Amino acid sequence: MLLELENITLLYGRIQALHGISLTVDEGEIVALIGANGAGKSTTMRAISGLRPVASGSIRFDGEDITRLRADLRVVRGLCQAPEGRGIFPGMTVLENLDMGAYTRKDRAGIAADLERVLALFPRLAERAKQPGGTLSGGEQQMLAVGRALMSRPRLLLLDEPSMGLAPMLIQQIFDIITEINQQGTTILLVEQNAQQALSRAHRGYVLETGNIVRSGTGAELLHDPAVKEAYLGVA
Ligand code: ATP
Repeated sequence: MLLELENITLLYGRIQALHGISLTVDEGEIVALIGANGAGKSTTMRAISGLRPVASGSIRFDGEDITRLRADLRVVRGLCQAPEGRGIFPGMTVLENLDMGAYTRKDRAGIAADLERVLALFPRLAERAKQPGGTLSGGEQQMLAVGRALMSRPRLLLLDEPSMGLAPMLIQQIFDIITEINQQGTTILLVEQNAQQALSRAHRGYVLETGNIVRSGTGAELLHDPAVKEAYLGVA
């Protein structure tokens, strides 16, 4: 087990956003977390990456309790989250942003190879390599956020809505990249509104509703589950 959440609860002031979340991610998996707006997907990611303290429950990563570990120390251990939406450095160029993603690495050759790969996968980023990140379109900034996370080659990559703001063709591409990165050995936990794509790429998935996990199974099982179909796949 690479990641294990046990009975996690989380509060925003008096609002309880998570009501006892338990989930696991095994080494080598892609696991998808799906659910409607406000279900608690982003909050679960914040709990895992340490951006928000949990009220109770435990989080184990690679056999160690990280429930109270600082977020930056989780990154050092190989837990890296690509921010939702536009979490890039607007004043830095595209290349500098990507470089920042590799700041915990020392393997120069590996970093250079990954940079080339990210730029090949996202030709728009290559075209705009010298431009400040803040001048990119919303969709391009989202690609940059994902590209930057890929540059860190984490053991567990957390992706919050990687397809948000991308044109349909690019959505396909970003999921191809996610699959490729996983096949090269990176475990991935992703949150997605695009349940169809996420579940068809994921080994396993969890369905969140109002801060609770209400269903789990293999990606295929959830894709064919009538209740999931009706609520999240737009099929009655
Ligand atoms: P979305 O896809 O809209 O981001 P989500 O499933 O990621 O939805 P969360 O953003 O995790 O949902 O929100 C879960 C609940 O916590 C919601 O009721 C939301 O209103 C509340 N919430 C989220 N962030 C905060 C915050 N900073 N302060 C107070 N309440 C919050």
